[in-house]
Amino acid sequence: MSDVAFPLPPGSTIGVLGGGQLGRMLAMAAARLGFDVAVLDPERDAPAHRVAAQAIVGDYDDPEALEALASLADVITFEFENVPARAIEILETLGAEVAPSGRALAIAQDRLDEKQFLNEAGEPTVAFAAIDGPDDIVAALQKLGRPLLIKGRRGGYDGKGQAWVQQPREAKAVFAAIGGQPGIAETPADFRRELSVIAARGRDGEIALYPLAENHHEDGILRRTVAPAKVTPQTMAQAERIAATLLSALGYVGVIGIELFERDDGRLLVNEFAPRVHNTGHWTLDGCEVDQFEQHIRAVAGWPLGPTDAIARVEMTNLIGEQANDWKRLSAEPETRLWLYGKADVRAGRKMGHVNRLTPLRG
Ligand code: AMP
Repeated sequence: MSDVAFPLPPGSTIGVLGGGQLGRMLAMAAARLGFDVAVLDPERDAPAHRVAAQAIVGDYDDPEALEALASLADVITFEFENVPARAIEILETLGAEVAPSGRALAIAQDRLDEKQFLNEAGEPTVAFAAIDGPDDIVAALQKLGRPLLIKGRRGGYDGKGQAWVQQPREAKAVFAAIGGQPGIAETPADFRRELSVIAARGRDGEIALYPLAENHHEDGILRRTVAPAKVTPQTMAQAERIAATLLSALGYVGVIGIELFERDDGRLLVNEFAPRVHNTGHWTLDGCEVDQFEQHIRAVAGWPLGPTDAIARVEMTNLIGEQANDWKRLSAEPETRLWLYGKADVRAGRKMGHVNRLTPLRG
């Protein structure tokens, strides 16, 4: 396993931890390049299980399931960042080749480590402080000013497990609101736009960057991405520097999603990074020469990275809950590309699919 030779030839098997829509689209991209995919997910009818060559149903830290995955796969990757550290340890003990590395995953799993890592690498973030209890919130309000956004260090996504604090007397309630767990206090980002950059680094250190995307959230969930975002060359250069610094400092292999805040003065701050393909990169499926899913497969398989140029302007809209029931109408729109994730259970807030609406690139 660990003596695997790159580039992996077609016919090799790529293991994926996690069987959600990201795993599904990775499996579809891998199949196109002649690879088989083995997916590990606890749910029998997980979206990726339905398209993978091999479906392993088991918990992420179940040694037997991980052994089955490691014995099938030439390289193993993941599609979500809350993979238990124990799973990576077991895979490493088995001698499995995992990409991106367990280190990138561990840093991204902890908001405090992530921000410290970014600052040490010279990349700007909001000011922050570690929070281990209500007293730390009081101290942070004195040191950093108010208001502050308190987030749990681990877990939580789409704005869950976060609360604003204005006054020292709210400290106890806010600490309870984030679950009474170790957290981080952040100053307000004061952004005019939320942008993201999807980038990739190959096994030979080559880096490729997609055009920036502009993101719009509703109720803490990504609703819409417009890309390529209209940005100045200076903004693009900042994003390039951030991505290159991060990917090189991590010795990264694969696709990464980096969420950015754009300030009024044009300065970019890094909010967080996801060591995986990213929802704000779904526009690349129909808007770029090689999409983020194929790019990730190319990178982990040791293939050359593909071209990232935009071939269309795209508005990506997530289909959340019952919005996916509109598939008949959406499928009749000529400029709309419909992606459905094969989820049987329609639930409020659940990402069921997305559409990419295409317009020609101009200028
Ligand atoms: P996160 O869980 O860190 O991705 O945050 C979710 C969302 O909360 C972001 O997409 C922003 O809209 C908002 N947010 C996060 N951090 C800050 C901050 N320091 N200041 C203002 N808004 C923030």
